[in-house]
Amino acid sequence: MTSSKEKPEGLEPYYLPSGEEIKVFERCHEKNLAVMLKGPTGCGKTRFVEHMAWRLNRPLITISCHDDLSASDLVGRFLIRHDGTEWQDGPLTRAVREGAICYLDEVVEARQDTIVVLHPLTDYRRILPIDKTGESIEAEPGFQLVISYNPGYQRMLKDLKPSTRQRFVALDFDFPPKEREIAIVEREGQCDYATSQALVSLGHRLRALQDRGLAEVPSTRLLIAAARLIASGIPVRQACYVAVVSPLSDDMAMVGAMKDLVDATF
Ligand code: ADP
Repeated sequence: MTSSKEKPEGLEPYYLPSGEEIKVFERCHEKNLAVMLKGPTGCGKTRFVEHMAWRLNRPLITISCHDDLSASDLVGRFLIRHDGTEWQDGPLTRAVREGAICYLDEVVEARQDTIVVLHPLTDYRRILPIDKTGESIEAEPGFQLVISYNPGYQRMLKDLKPSTRQRFVALDFDFPPKEREIAIVEREGQCDYATSQALVSLGHRLRALQDRGLAEVPSTRLLIAAARLIASGIPVRQACYVAVVSPLSDDMAMVGAMKDLVDATF
């Protein structure tokens, strides 16, 4: 499903930077450059965009990409009414008209013929041609295209075409440095510092299992989920099993190895 949502008024989405990403993004916005956020799932890409939309005071329209997403889902379609047809803008078109930040999450999931719709918006013309209505809309000032992309995921099956990649400034994301991740888990997970510290150290140990075949490593998001369960009264080890270990693997040996690390940490 395509989901689009507006930026909630007023509230600052909490985002702890790891480097210069806020400054670079602000310059990209100023210079009308489209941005690609590269990094593993759950490492803060979406939160970063939410924060930047708030900082730049732009509406945010988010589109979760999937392999059924068509160009019409993005641009719009004619709806049939009892008295004829009526054009309805899709979320991309709305963003272009409103001067919003349009965030396409996991863009690599979308088909290539859907992704090419973005191309004319990323060059100096900043236009969106709508074939079905014959219109060509110029993007309002403030419009910015942002895509996210997980380079490790399904690398062999799906990848972004060079003709698409070269239209974006790429910001590399990774899990935050240790002390920052502790601060994030403590705040977002509403747990105490010691619990957050232990969860992050567990996260680091589990991430090292990638070399031993763990396909997806625990994200900051999973550590936050465990912290929330712990804060709500679920025993620590159980919280780690259900929120971190079990979502990551079905392989009994791998699950066993992860549980051992949980037991060694808590
Ligand atoms: P992604 O879009 O990369 O999959 P998210 O932005 O949804 O990941 O991050 C998952 C969660 O982790 C967020 O909801 C937020 O609670 C937390 N998070 C991760 N990185 C940060 C950060 N740098 N500052 C604040 N919160 C963060």
